[in-house]
Amino acid sequence: MTTTISPQDAPQPTPRPPTDPRLRRTAPDDEPSSRRRWFSRGLRLLVVAAAITASFFIDNSIFTGIVVLFAIVAPFEKLYPRQKGQKIRRPLVTTDIAFALAGPLLNVAAIAAVIVIGGLSFFWLPGLALRPLVGMIPAAVLPFVGFLLFDFVAYWTHRWAHEVPFMWRFHAVHHSPEHMDWVSGFRIHPFDGVLIAPGFFFLLGAGFDAELAGVFAVFQIILGIFFHANVRVRWRWVDKIACNPEFHHWHHANEADSIGHNYGAALPWWDLAFGTFFMPKWATRRRPQHYGIDEYLPRHMLGQLAHPCRGARRHLWLWRHPIIAAKTVRVAARNLLVDIHRSSFRPTRSVRRETRPGSFSTNASLIGPSAAPKPVKLPLPSGP
Ligand SMILES: [Zn+2]
Ligand SMILES: [Zn+2]
Repeated sequence: MTTTISPQDAPQPTPRPPTDPRLRRTAPDDEPSSRRRWFSRGLRLLVVAAAITASFFIDNSIFTGIVVLFAIVAPFEKLYPRQKGQKIRRPLVTTDIAFALAGPLLNVAAIAAVIVIGGLSFFWLPGLALRPLVGMIPAAVLPFVGFLLFDFVAYWTHRWAHEVPFMWRFHAVHHSPEHMDWVSGFRIHPFDGVLIAPGFFFLLGAGFDAELAGVFAVFQIILGIFFHANVRVRWRWVDKIACNPEFHHWHHANEADSIGHNYGAALPWWDLAFGTFFMPKWATRRRPQHYGIDEYLPRHMLGQLAHPCRGARRHLWLWRHPIIAAKTVRVAARNLLVDIHRSSFRPTRSVRRETRPGSFSTNASLIGPSAAPKPVKLPLPSGP
């Protein structure tokens, strides 16, 4: 006799096996040696120092912000740590600090990406369609409606960032830290601005004030940074009302049954509605243990910034052939839309999931029939 159980009922966590070290350690830029290694390290430091200096002149408030964030969050991480024994100077913390300090300069690229992506996403079109309805909403309620709409669009763009391979290239940078703490949330590729751009343009199309839409965007960015803190705070009653650090830690967890969940930015309602909510039952006392991704990414900021654009050089010749270039762009856009469609209408696997490690070894495998694994069948214990 068999019964079907949910993995969330299982008392033990199902950590993924450690990432194959060969994937990370034998990459060419991770194993430099001798003089070349020192030369490239020096050059890298020089470029990062120049980026940080430029950032300081663009907006030096970020430097104060980082000190304030550290002063507020670091003591909580020490007193109530999610991962006990995780040091402030943990591996690759310098990469995250470099991302944070170079933030203003990276934001210049990000704003350009937001404008291009927001315009090309055509999210402002449904916004325009909603404009007459939005005009009828009382002014006092308008900010709440705007916030809901913004969060709803953010859910979908975040989901696509994971499940559309081209978009995942950029979002993978944010998921590469294997340690979550006060600074890891800064590790974002500037072209990953897709997460907030469509929502922002959607609100503009619907007739919302640009300032209000900007406030929502900034609020979500700050909230996002807070969600990465290494704190073990968990309020059971909050889980289905608002996103929280535990919710976002599960989003980053690299464990077989948690991948592809918790896309919500501020509200978990969309995850509940579309079957991507993942919070193990309170009684199991299960907490996220492993973070990061299985695929290779360079360890340092410059490498991580360049990595999503790998292979682009091969297509440079297209600039000399505008007709072929236009056809290539058309095919690429069509493929992107097909991937977005697949992600949007893939089978929901909200309740029962297989816990077999490796069932979601890559993000590409989230799409397609393999995305709906069967529930585990376990024999009932025979007894009196
Ligand atoms: Zn994500
Ligand atoms: Zn995150």
